[in-house]
Amino acid sequence: MQTIDNTKPVMVTGATGYVAGRLIEKLLSEGIIVHAAVRNPDNKEKTKYLDALAEKLPGSIKYFKSDLLVDGSYDEAMAGCEVVYHTASPFINKVEDAQRDLIDPALKGTQNVLEGVNRTDSVKRVVVTSSCVSIYGDAKDTLNYPNQEMTEDQWNTTSTADHQPYSYSKVIAEKEAWKIAEAQDRWRLVVVNPSFVIGPGINPHATSESFNIMKQFAKGDFKMGAPAFNMGCVDVRDLAVAHYEAGTREDAEGRHIASGHNSSFREIGRIIKDKYPNYPIGKGSVPKFMIWLMAPSAGITRKVVARNVGYPWKANNTKSKEKLGMTYRPLNESVEEFFGSLIDAGVIEKK
Ligand code: NDP
Repeated sequence: MQTIDNTKPVMVTGATGYVAGRLIEKLLSEGIIVHAAVRNPDNKEKTKYLDALAEKLPGSIKYFKSDLLVDGSYDEAMAGCEVVYHTASPFINKVEDAQRDLIDPALKGTQNVLEGVNRTDSVKRVVVTSSCVSIYGDAKDTLNYPNQEMTEDQWNTTSTADHQPYSYSKVIAEKEAWKIAEAQDRWRLVVVNPSFVIGPGINPHATSESFNIMKQFAKGDFKMGAPAFNMGCVDVRDLAVAHYEAGTREDAEGRHIASGHNSSFREIGRIIKDKYPNYPIGKGSVPKFMIWLMAPSAGITRKVVARNVGYPWKANNTKSKEKLGMTYRPLNESVEEFFGSLIDAGVIEKK
């Protein structure tokens, strides 16, 4: 058991990100003082969404300039905090240099933040935003899992710097977090492993990969039908609750799959098409060999297609329900509201 004092400030890394935005909203609504660690506190275009929340909610926000790749740059932000939420990590699929653009910020960033925690006596709890991709590399891997289902017991063993580098960045960062946590006994690590995050964020112009998929549906990239890519989905607002509970429950421990639904590209496309029929989204499915042929022109490797398209995707979210008290909103609500929020903001052309 570990009591967390909600009158103490908490630090959030990557505070201007998509996932962090809704987490900070939740923290502010609980009256908490948020130490928002951001790369550029002067970038009002990014911080204005957080400022607007702080104006109307009981908590307050203070910005700190921090970078994953600058050693010690989170120390000032975490001083006096009992809880640290480490969400910052690049989530981009198309990168020029995977080592520089994904792996270094994920791994060195985790080391940097957690070494800061080791130096900061006030910190009792660290919540790391990992991913389901720390649990599996390609959907094909899950065929070997018990019940062909992901649980908190499995690890991604197939991603590398060349194959699924984002997934690789997440699994090595999470492993490093456990290694650093297990070498001490003052603070406790709790990990949240989300599936693909959807739902309206506080900033409709965020750069997370989650937004690109909605834009691709809107543009007609799947007008022939969506590929048979199965995936899990979690609403960004539900994920905020999962983080909050992981940070505050006395008995929270270990990893937690945060995934509301075992779903697919096709199901997301169908939900959008039913609600917004004017967008060019095919209801059928493109055969795997077509996707395999076209993959390189879409920036996807054929190995990724071969090992993911057509395979089931099943994650067990029982621990999040039992230990964090999670309930997950319906998938159509998340998809419709996400797409709608992007239309309202002019990010997606209204049709
Ligand atoms: P965003 O791109 O919106 O957020 C990523 C954040 O990381 C941004 O705030 C970004 O800062 C920050 N960041 C990137 N590089 C650095 C750096 N060098 N120094 C400091 N900050 C940096 O993505 P998401 O909100 O989607 O992702 C948040 C977390 O959730 C990540 O750990 C991601 O892996 C994880 N996740 C996301 C999923 C999803 O579907 N979206 C699924 C599973 C896990 P800046 O605003 O300055 O660019």
